[in-house]
Amino acid sequence: MKDRWSREINYMRISVTDQCNLRCCYCMPEEGIPSIDKSELLTFDEIETIVKAGVSIGINAIKITGGEPLLRDDITKLIKNIKNIDGIKQVTLTTNGVLLERYADELKEAGIDSININVPTLTKEKYASITRRNEFIQMIQGIRKARDIGIHLKLNCVSRKTITDEELYGFAMIAKHYPIDIRFIEMMPLGFGKLFDTYSNDKILERLKAIFQDKIHLSTVSGNGPAVYYEFDDLVGKIGFVSAVSHKFCSDCNRIRLSAEGELKLCLNYDEGVSLRDVLRNGNQDLLLSVMEQAIFEKPQAHCFYEEASDKVEMKNMVQIGG
Ligand code: SAM
Ligand code: SF4
Repeated sequence: MKDRWSREINYMRISVTDQCNLRCCYCMPEEGIPSIDKSELLTFDEIETIVKAGVSIGINAIKITGGEPLLRDDITKLIKNIKNIDGIKQVTLTTNGVLLERYADELKEAGIDSININVPTLTKEKYASITRRNEFIQMIQGIRKARDIGIHLKLNCVSRKTITDEELYGFAMIAKHYPIDIRFIEMMPLGFGKLFDTYSNDKILERLKAIFQDKIHLSTVSGNGPAVYYEFDDLVGKIGFVSAVSHKFCSDCNRIRLSAEGELKLCLNYDEGVSLRDVLRNGNQDLLLSVMEQAIFEKPQAHCFYEEASDKVEMKNMVQIGG
C-alpha cells in the first residue's frame, strides 16, 4: 500500500500498554501517568484482527512497543500469534530490558526476530538519574540472558551531550565482542523530550571517528528503519545512527503506529489518527480495511519538529506514542 506521497507502508509499531516500570526523563513524568482502564486497551484478538487487515494491504513487519511491553500480561502469546499470521515476515520488540531475563526464553520460543533494548548509559549511577529507577543490573542481566540464548539484539541509546568518550568506547566494545548493534537515537522534541536540546548524531559520529580514527566505514542501511549504519574494522556489531532531527528521513518513512487504545497514528509528530477500536467495537468490522487504507493514504508528508506551532501537533509523551 502506498500513501499519497508514494511511500510504501509495510511496518507497523504496536503499543500494548502506556505504563512503564522506568521514568526516563525525556519520555515520562516522574509521577507516572494515569493508567488507561483495561477495557479501553485493545485486546489481543483485536490487535490480531488489525494485523491481519494490515497484512492484506502490505504490512509485513511488526514492532511491539509500549510503555514497557513486557508489563502486559501474556505478551509472548501475542507475539507468537502475530508471528504465525501468514504474510508477517518479522516481529520485533523494543523494551527497557528490566524484565527481559524473566521473559527471554519465552520470547525466543515465540519466535521473536530481534529485540531493541533501551540502554541510555553504561554507568549505574547515570542510569538511576536518567531513568529514576535502580534497575541497571536487571537490564544488564536481561541483555546477557537474551544474548546467551542467541536472540538478535540492538542497543538503543538516546544521544545526549553528557555521554562521555569512555561511554562511547564502552558501547563500541560491546559491539567488538558480540554481534550486537549499537544505535544512537537523536532526542526528539516530543513531550518531555522538549526539555532537552537535541545533541546531533553527527557529533557522536565525529567523536567515534576521533576515537577509532580510520577504522570506521559507512555500511549498508539495514532493518526496517532509517538507521544509517557504520562498520568498524575490529567490531562484530555495527554502530547505527537514527537522526530524525538533524537528517529528516520522512521521505522514506514506511511506518504506521497503533496505540494501546487502538488509535491508528500516521506520524508520531501529529495528534491525528483514527480509532480502529471504535470501528471494531461498533460492529463495523467490514469497514476496518477501508478505514485503514484511507488513513494510510492521508499520512502526513513530514514531521514538523521545529516549525511553527500548529494545533495538530502531538502533545502526548513518548511513553504513550511508543517511540
Ligand atoms: N519502554 C520501551 C523502551 O524503552 O524501549 C519501549 C517504549 S520507548 C518509548 C521506545 C524508545 O523511545 C526507547 O528507545 C526510548 O529511548 C525512545 N525515546 C523515548 N523518548 C524519546 C525522545 N524524546 N526522543 C527520542 N527517543 C525517545
Ligand atoms: Fe519507559 Fe521506554 Fe519511556 Fe523509558 S523510554 S520511560 S523505558 S517507555
